[in-house]
Amino acid sequence: MRSILSLAAALFAITANAQDFEFWPNADYDPSVPTIESVLGHAPGERITWHAEAVRYFEALASSDPDRVTVHRYAESWEGRDLIYVVIASPENMRRIDDIKRDMQSLRNAATTSRSEADRIIQSGPAVTWLSYGVHGDEISSTDASMLTAYHLLAARGDPRVADILRESVVIIDPMQNPDGRDRFIHGFEMAEGLAPDPNRLAAEHDQPWPGGRYNHYLFDMNRDWFTLNQAESVGRVVAFQDWFPVVYVDLHEMGGDSSYYFAPGAEPINPHVTPTQVKNEELFGQTNAAWFDEFGIDYFSRDVYDNFYSGYGSSWPQYFGSIAMTYEQAGVEGLIFRQYNGHELRYRDAVRNHFVTSLGSAETVARNRQKFLQDFYDYQLSAIAEGRSDDIRTYIIPQQTDQAGANKLAGMLVQQGVAVGVANGSFKACGEDYAAGSYVIDMAQPAKRLVRTLLDANVAMDSGFVGEQEKRRAIGLESKIYDITAWSLPLQMNVRAETCNLLPNVGTTSAGPSLVHAPELPTTHAKVAYLVPWGEATAVRFLSHALQRGVLVKSTDAGFTLEGRRYPAGTLIVAVADNAADIHRAVRDIATRSGANMVAVDDSWVTDGPNLGSNQVVSHNRPDVAIAWDNPTRPTSAGQARFVIERQFDYPVTAIRTERIAKADLSNYEVLILPEMDGDGYAGVLGESGADNLRDWVQKGGVLIALGSANDYLADANVDLLSIRREKAVVEEGDEDSASSGADDEQPEATVAGRNLTSLADYEQSITPKTKLPDFLAGALLRADVLSEHWLSAGVASSLNVLAWGDNIYTPIRLDSGFNVARFASAENLLASGYIWEENRKQLAFKPFVVAQPSGRGFVIGFTQDPTIRAYLDGLNVIFMNAIFRGSAHARPMH
Ligand SMILES: [Zn+2]
Repeated sequence: MRSILSLAAALFAITANAQDFEFWPNADYDPSVPTIESVLGHAPGERITWHAEAVRYFEALASSDPDRVTVHRYAESWEGRDLIYVVIASPENMRRIDDIKRDMQSLRNAATTSRSEADRIIQSGPAVTWLSYGVHGDEISSTDASMLTAYHLLAARGDPRVADILRESVVIIDPMQNPDGRDRFIHGFEMAEGLAPDPNRLAAEHDQPWPGGRYNHYLFDMNRDWFTLNQAESVGRVVAFQDWFPVVYVDLHEMGGDSSYYFAPGAEPINPHVTPTQVKNEELFGQTNAAWFDEFGIDYFSRDVYDNFYSGYGSSWPQYFGSIAMTYEQAGVEGLIFRQYNGHELRYRDAVRNHFVTSLGSAETVARNRQKFLQDFYDYQLSAIAEGRSDDIRTYIIPQQTDQAGANKLAGMLVQQGVAVGVANGSFKACGEDYAAGSYVIDMAQPAKRLVRTLLDANVAMDSGFVGEQEKRRAIGLESKIYDITAWSLPLQMNVRAETCNLLPNVGTTSAGPSLVHAPELPTTHAKVAYLVPWGEATAVRFLSHALQRGVLVKSTDAGFTLEGRRYPAGTLIVAVADNAADIHRAVRDIATRSGANMVAVDDSWVTDGPNLGSNQVVSHNRPDVAIAWDNPTRPTSAGQARFVIERQFDYPVTAIRTERIAKADLSNYEVLILPEMDGDGYAGVLGESGADNLRDWVQKGGVLIALGSANDYLADANVDLLSIRREKAVVEEGDEDSASSGADDEQPEATVAGRNLTSLADYEQSITPKTKLPDFLAGALLRADVLSEHWLSAGVASSLNVLAWGDNIYTPIRLDSGFNVARFASAENLLASGYIWEENRKQLAFKPFVVAQPSGRGFVIGFTQDPTIRAYLDGLNVIFMNAIFRGSAHARPMH
């Protein structure tokens, strides 16, 4: 059977490799349009096209046909590559392209657009189709398909749809959303190539080295971060999207190589802030794509997986603007040819062809439904405004608060995403609460209402029927179909207060601008004694980072104090005039301005409550050299995101060290070492015994070792024992204990076991329950953690934190003779802040540690049992994370 299959595959390959392979039969291409081969030297799908080559091809199209093609640069990647989108339109539409953009803005701003004006646009205006490719850089076929799509739209005379598409619509092509990741993949692939493309899945050319091409430079998954606005590529896209307001946004991906092709309609659960019309419209695209796949004999599926519940995908975020958004997935070749388990050899150009077919099918669907989609887009805005006016949440208010820098950042993020945010001109009352002038007021009667709800609401509920199905699957040992995290409420993640009211408060407001950094409060005179920077906001952490790098001597307190009638939180930075050079006054003012930190000048050191500025509870900061484990076995996203938070959110340099070097390297130049989350066999396999010894020795001599998430498995392993916490198995319910323990203690495996009648379903279920297992895997929920405020690690930290908990790692608390549980999860009743959690995990996580600090010799081991830097959007955890670095290093006592 096997040989016949191979023979068939070989024959298929020979026929398909013939010169006459046609991407679109009878297309009859206009020879005056530059082909991919004439510009780049390879036919479509014959090679994997590099970023610079793809840009060159689109520029060639634009210069040969400027009446129909324009190329726009919308961002620059971290590694300096241009991100572009390409506009393709008929000459008539291209001439009035600015009017077309303006018309879409008018439909979006439905409240200020007259019905007759909207009708005119819907009747006569073209709709915009947005096709986006390659957000995951190792999902390579889509970029090559994007070039072929553009070529076909400009050159195919034998395809009658092309004229319709160009008349009824404007097509925007974003050929590659992640150029750094793509070029990383191609580099690895080309390095591994041999005599001929190798279909073997074991071949190095199909096996990417760490960190793989999926991620951008900082190893972010840019198909999760549409609303977080911290990666340059995504920010550029968010801005560009709102220039155009496409009626459809298609995000083309790849999935496992043994699969076929996936297109919408998507899977459950459906986010309740998406409208039924949007969901229904996905079918129109699915039907067109299915018809063409039937025509060409291509397998596909829809609905099984790929839901849009989470709001940070390319296939979900545009929905909150009224667009139809979808993901398409092609089986990945990860090279030029791939032998599937069924023996079929999938070629790169087949993958390119499939994405090309659905790209055209999508544009065709818009052309055919132009008027309906424009009407739906406009109606979406009207219904959003109407719902915002009548829903029980009429207003969101972000009050003035302790972490005002966080509140400002949140407001700025919303403005960047098209939300109208007002700043209160005076103090006011709403729903019985008093609010100060400067509070942010969001009137929900606006087109962005549904975006605001999905981003700010404390909870977005999954359909109970769907949840019930997942509980059933779990009960019989199947994986749940929850695809990503179940909670992403921005106020919770940022630990910023956002309150709701069912009325619109009576207060005048001024529109907030998009600026994320507001001018800090600065003293008007030189300090006689010291400058104080109250601790607790991100801006203060940036101040410390900048000050240390400029050689400023900074101290900070472990406890709060009162001075000149003002209360300062624990951790407050003290820059004493006497400690520093004569130009300190100018230096701190400059640092405060650049970091956005508030700063107070004090002329008198007489503290009326709490430690004096010269107390033993005041530590001197050193300038720690920070290293992070890099490369296998670290999880790329965790390593990249932790590095990003330190380097780009707090402007502090980090040395990335390949993990295997850590086993033997002299680490004495580093004060802090971070172990990100780990994959596979983890640190034990890479570091070995000598690595554990090296780490132990370094900590004993004064190093601060910080473990994130699953890295604690390694430190808590009994053989390594750098942390005295232990990972827990799932709790065995009392009734199950007999069966669970029976036989578990037997040292000798027996050939046969005693017989037993199973007399009920309960008996049977008990008999198939594993004797020991890990807790069930959590997809991700926001859980509350209570903070031990007396510990130096919690200085300036809120008393309650929201932690994104996922996975199956639960640890025992640390005992008081070994260290401190600086933050621990709340009781079972108070644990869940947002999202969905399995009942057993809720019970077992209660009171378990989130942050532990264990003194060890002259140094410390600090464990964060959940990664505080995930997606770099848990701003509410940044202070405790940065405390571990800066305050941990200040508290260590290395010998010099
Ligand atoms: Zn993907």
